[in-house]
Amino acid sequence: MVRIISFDADGTLFRVDILKRFWFQEIPRLYAEKHSIGLDLAVKEVKDSYREVGPSDVRWYLPKYWFDRFGLKKSPRDVIQDISHEVSLYGDARDALIGLSDDFYLIVVSNSPREILETQVGRIPNYFDSVYSSVSDFDRVKDDVETYRLVCRDLDVDPSEILHIGDNREHDFEVPRKIGINALHLDRYTENEKENRIDNLRDLTKPSYLKKFNVKGVPQKNK
Ligand SMILES: [Mg+2]
Repeated sequence: MVRIISFDADGTLFRVDILKRFWFQEIPRLYAEKHSIGLDLAVKEVKDSYREVGPSDVRWYLPKYWFDRFGLKKSPRDVIQDISHEVSLYGDARDALIGLSDDFYLIVVSNSPREILETQVGRIPNYFDSVYSSVSDFDRVKDDVETYRLVCRDLDVDPSEILHIGDNREHDFEVPRKIGINALHLDRYTENEKENRIDNLRDLTKPSYLKKFNVKGVPQKNK
């Protein structure tokens, strides 16, 4: 019986604006300053370095790794703080959190590093019972079932008690399902009719919708 609803952060609860700004504007700007080169060249060199590491490597997600590697003096937290106005919650996410928070435990399981995730969730802190950064807390990417196992262990729940929703079909749908977590793939933008696809989070607040995914009989949250 599902009693915990788990959300991915980037592209699911939050628009990716702050990530784009951080990784593709702010870091290149600092890199350009350090090396006294033009911004276009800095963007190219920084992107080449990102590509060399790649998203299946946990270092790819960690600001500290990149600031150390590029020799940038400013702290990642200060840079993120300066652009925190870029945090943007999707309207349907806000509606879903409001609609679900009385009846379910709500958690976040994200690939975002702790520094960015805290800034994002800091906008809506009261909704979540737990917030996990897979890369900062577990040193793992969400393509690894162990990430979800560690979340279950930390919460002391069976995987079948969690419904996870996210916009990456592999990380948020295929991987959690491997260990028995219920999962939905959020795809707001295309017309695909794939299995267990949801096109907006607001639908989660409709009892009939959750029933469709065998998560009926949810007990009242007991805190
Ligand atoms: Mg995502």
